[in-house]
Amino acid sequence: MAVAFKDPSWTDSALAPSSAFDDHGETEPREECGVFGVWAPGEEVAKLTYFGLFALQHRGQEAAGIAVGDGDRIVVFKDTGLVSQIFDESSLDALQGNVAIGHTRYSTAGGKKWENVQPMFRTSPDGTDVALGHNGNLINLLDLEKEARDQGVADKSTTTSDTSVITALLASAVSDGTTVFQAASQLLPKVKGAFCLTFTDGHTLYAARDPHGVRPLVLGRLDRGWVIASETCALDIVGATFVREIEPGELVAIDESGVRTERFAETTHKGCVFEYVYLARPDSVIRARSVNQTRIDIGRRLAREFPADGDLVIPVPESGNPAAVGYARESGIPFGQGLVKNAYVGRTFIQPSQTLRELGIRLKLNPLREVIAGKKLVVVDDSIVRGNTQRALIRMLREAGAAAVHVRIASPPVKWPCFYGIDFASPGELIANAVTGEMESPDSVIESIRSAIGADSLGFVSIEQMVESTEQVADQLCTACFDGKYPLGLPQGNPNADLVAKLQNDDRSF
Ligand code: SF4
Repeated sequence: MAVAFKDPSWTDSALAPSSAFDDHGETEPREECGVFGVWAPGEEVAKLTYFGLFALQHRGQEAAGIAVGDGDRIVVFKDTGLVSQIFDESSLDALQGNVAIGHTRYSTAGGKKWENVQPMFRTSPDGTDVALGHNGNLINLLDLEKEARDQGVADKSTTTSDTSVITALLASAVSDGTTVFQAASQLLPKVKGAFCLTFTDGHTLYAARDPHGVRPLVLGRLDRGWVIASETCALDIVGATFVREIEPGELVAIDESGVRTERFAETTHKGCVFEYVYLARPDSVIRARSVNQTRIDIGRRLAREFPADGDLVIPVPESGNPAAVGYARESGIPFGQGLVKNAYVGRTFIQPSQTLRELGIRLKLNPLREVIAGKKLVVVDDSIVRGNTQRALIRMLREAGAAAVHVRIASPPVKWPCFYGIDFASPGELIANAVTGEMESPDSVIESIRSAIGADSLGFVSIEQMVESTEQVADQLCTACFDGKYPLGLPQGNPNADLVAKLQNDDRSF
């Protein structure tokens, strides 16, 4: 994806001025893509891919596409919008073949044009079709762009999408003497950053995962074929059984010969901890750990770290549900559903004024007055990014009669930008940065956030407890957005990365 940050002058941003809203008006972190692939001759591969993308819709809600190969040529159908808005019975019936890849996308600023919707498509010098989908963010895009320019395969679109550059470089290397597998094997060691790829030449399904395994990628088995998907929930929806994860640094090829595999780099696990906390679906499993169980466990630990004098624990639905269950179990405070979520409002709407912005949140969440009136509430949410949602929510709960609102957050404060595939808004818009100056104590930061959102008390689970909940080895996870330690390094040519480097050099924090 293209560079995610929108406001290079982030240090001037204040807490939630109207300019702090980007063109999406959202207040939540956004995943940047889900990938899917299926090799299953005799099956309706386009429809399987459609349902796989349907399960991965949460990973990208602005565009989607499917590329189907019939053994030779590839047909790509893609557009902006939700999966269910883009495809219908007739468009899927027209996509006939043995192999398919699919992609759901969240587009970043400057990258919303149709040409950047995936899968990307290129034809090699020897006439081989290549289609490719990507989840992640590369950190050496400048080097790869230079290589594409040097080879004469860069075009205007390659300057706005790292996926386009990879596709161009891959396709250009395929020739009479070099197969797609060989070309990928030579290219992938040069690609730095976070990437999960599915690609095809119309005959074979390929997948690759970066050496750090930042984003999840799994292999599943159908009765008559194979499936690759970002999350295990997408295997479940198409009736595939989980086989294993695609290993970090692994390239696989799947066709009538079975599954071929090659290591293009040594594995150094640095999985994204935020997948467990927020991004992945709760019914997915990452590295043998249930996402749902992780979130329940975080809630338990949160209750031990930050007990509250409450009558009722309520989640901010739906992502706060498991942590609220854990908090209630550990604290002994009853659990209740105090907020109803409109299932058809996927995102807070874009509105220019404060009044309408809050209406956007009300369209999404509505309090159950008879449940919360007169109660001291413990409200459990998964994360605070900008704080706008929580502030409007707390006001809404007080208007509905809550006697007190204690907020408990199932992740630490997000303070640093992600360069590996998640868009948190610009660093200055993050509430943990906006409320405070540098070098303040952690307690004063939390107190400032509490005051800004209007809660009676506020607690965030610690990084240590969050990491322990994942049951992963701590140094095999990326926690950079919480602690500023970037295990893959910083990206080239990004102003926010330059700023991060400067702060780190000066041994300072945001
Ligand atoms: S910076 Fe945060 S969101 Fe990005 S990969 Fe690391 S843990 Fe995940």
